[in-house]
Amino acid sequence: MKYIIFNWKSYLNIAESMNLSKIVSKLPSTKKYKLICSPNNFYNLSLKSRYPKNIYAAQNIDLHGKGASTGSIDIEDLVNNKIKYCILGHSEVRSNFGETDLTVQKKTDLCLINKIKPIVCIGEPLKIYKSKKTKFFLKKQINKIFKKSNNYEEVVLAYEPLWSIGTGLTPKLSEIDDILGFLSKILENYSFKKINILYGGSVNLSNIKDILSLQNLNGVLVGSASTKSSFIKHFK
Ligand code: PEP
Repeated sequence: MKYIIFNWKSYLNIAESMNLSKIVSKLPSTKKYKLICSPNNFYNLSLKSRYPKNIYAAQNIDLHGKGASTGSIDIEDLVNNKIKYCILGHSEVRSNFGETDLTVQKKTDLCLINKIKPIVCIGEPLKIYKSKKTKFFLKKQINKIFKKSNNYEEVVLAYEPLWSIGTGLTPKLSEIDDILGFLSKILENYSFKKINILYGGSVNLSNIKDILSLQNLNGVLVGSASTKSSFIKHFK
């Protein structure tokens, strides 16, 4: 079973999000894929009440909790509304809102305490990739986000090179494979009930077959291509 996460970011309005959710809801059920819709947080509940069988992910939460926190999306909002997954540490949240690995660590713990599965994003900027320091960079991110003393329930980890997100550029398959092997190895130093490693960054209809053919890959996180109905219909 491979995770396919549709990150609709803030690309779509409510009608377009409904339309894609409807398409997801009509796909025949299959053991090959676990499809997860991640609409703009504002639409999650409307979509869930209209198409309750789809699986939804929030695009972020924050750490302030209930109370005097204008603009906050609290973990309780996910729990009470049965939103089972949450994307954390996405590069756009890191760059737009200053999210750090330490914040991602706290949010990951908060999600797991509340039985929400975190989809934790990591990935190197272009400069690091070009200087061949990707592994060093990713190891540091993992060390900051996960604690060796914790026993983690299921976690989804998305490897998303920042230079690949929204650019049409992807690493070579052999490079993704090499990173997958590297991540699996360093994650052995931590205790996870289950860890799923995904790739994200300019996945589309032309490259998805090759990317999903990687044996050690547990799925993909897809941004702009996932806003097209033709892409979603691929997963029947
Ligand atoms: C993303 O935002 O997580 C992503 C992978 O975007 P895109 O597929 O558009 O590169």
